[in-house]
Amino acid sequence: RKFPGDFSGNPMQRNTPKVLFATISPAGFEHPKLIAFNQHLSEEIGLGKFEEKDLDFLVGNNLPENIQPYATAYAGHQFGNWAGQLGDGRAILAGQIENKGKKTEIQWKGAGATPYSRHADGRAVLRSSVREYLMSEAMHHLGIPTTRALSLALTGEEVIRDIMYNGNPQLEKGAVVIRTAESFLRFGHFELLSSQKEYKTLQELVDFTIENYFPEIISTGIQRYKDFFQSVCTRTADLAVEWFRVGFVHGVMNTDNMSILGLTIDYGPYSMMDEYDLNFTPNTTDLPGRRYAFGKQGQISQWNLWQLANALYPLIKDEKFLEDTLNNFGTYFWNTHDKMLCKKFGFDTLNKDDEDFFTNWQALMQELQLDYTLFFSRLENLTEDTDLKEYFQDISYTVLGEEYIKKLNDFIRRYHLRLSLNTISREESLEIMKKTNPKFVLRNYLLYECIEEISNGNNSMLKKLTTALENPYKEIYPEFSVKRPDRYNDIAGCSML
Ligand code: AMP
Ligand code: MG
Ligand code: MG
Repeated sequence: RKFPGDFSGNPMQRNTPKVLFATISPAGFEHPKLIAFNQHLSEEIGLGKFEEKDLDFLVGNNLPENIQPYATAYAGHQFGNWAGQLGDGRAILAGQIENKGKKTEIQWKGAGATPYSRHADGRAVLRSSVREYLMSEAMHHLGIPTTRALSLALTGEEVIRDIMYNGNPQLEKGAVVIRTAESFLRFGHFELLSSQKEYKTLQELVDFTIENYFPEIISTGIQRYKDFFQSVCTRTADLAVEWFRVGFVHGVMNTDNMSILGLTIDYGPYSMMDEYDLNFTPNTTDLPGRRYAFGKQGQISQWNLWQLANALYPLIKDEKFLEDTLNNFGTYFWNTHDKMLCKKFGFDTLNKDDEDFFTNWQALMQELQLDYTLFFSRLENLTEDTDLKEYFQDISYTVLGEEYIKKLNDFIRRYHLRLSLNTISREESLEIMKKTNPKFVLRNYLLYECIEEISNGNNSMLKKLTTALENPYKEIYPEFSVKRPDRYNDIAGCSML
């Protein structure tokens, strides 16, 4: 790794100006226990088959001499405010490996404190680790750019946590996830250097990033940095549109949680949406503002890119270019978003009346509290003589009275009219819908049930969910193709559970 600077000290809680990373050792855990190992990913990145003796590595124990673990410093804007220096507080990088020309960084999450842990313990609990392990893989199989997860192991250690909903400290099982990504660089790494006026190092970091991760950029000079910023804008917009496609709410889109490669990163308070709701946020610390609600994810991406633009200004020095690029973000985002919705509905191209159709549909979804994922499965199977009341009642979280059924009827009539304008056949249209609309999404209550089971030593739900999430465009388990059961209504908006 060509990060300049080094800090080889004990993990102490302090700022490390002028320094971009700290070499450290993971805490070490005496009684690790394997919960899950991602054999497909292991082979893909060139690590091969898991053997019993590898368990130590999975929690960061007894590392071979050629590995020098480190944690990186970054900065960020959190909830709209400049937060100054942060860093990998509970993530420790093992380094990078290469397989068939593809580079992969490997990182432990929860393996111990770093100089960037501040007052926290650098640990992760089973609950949050299961959530990260399963959801990052679910996103990958949905076809969405993301960090991935190689393994999930218990550390054998207990960790104290203040549970947000009752305020009482509790002991929970500690766990470590190994995450992988082509790169873990975040907007915040660039913001850190810029805020410290380390412009030369900033330039080196940008050069490094372009050379390694943006091979499509072939320009030189300042144009090279402009193209880089434009590419990050495009990748970020594309990512947010993908989140809209499947109903993913990230929940904590601080700039330190924004990947420079446009990957989904930081699986904290996220949730998949059950009933369609633009105001939905799973982050209980984001109330009542709902800055990171489902419907705001495009706008917040743009806000975060403004912060990146400020950080890169010393290299680009062209206010008009940056402003124009950021202003075009909205146009690009909505165009990509609307084309994505066309695919969900099985439309061939974006027609001029489609925007109005979508607005009307959003209002209907919100008012009738329809399940986002199931709604599109129902559309695929709709026929001219379907009894709409029966058909849509099971996927609504409210009672569909006469007035609502009338609205549904009007909407479906308009939908059929729009389909009749398609220049492609109904079969082709259905083909597009089936590739775009997942049949399985990893709902919050499923994670909740799975975590309960694992805590009690039962991994059967984990196995079943893994199979389902690896095949999200098929219906493998019909019992997962239903709306959230009423008994879980109170945890719908609280993924901290
Ligand atoms: P997040 O909200 O997950 O993006 O976390 C914000 C910052 O807090 C990041 O820099 C994390 O590394 C740090 N952090 C979160 N949890 C812990 C923990 N248990 N120990 C140390 N640092 C943490
Ligand atoms: Mg984070
Ligand atoms: Mg986090």
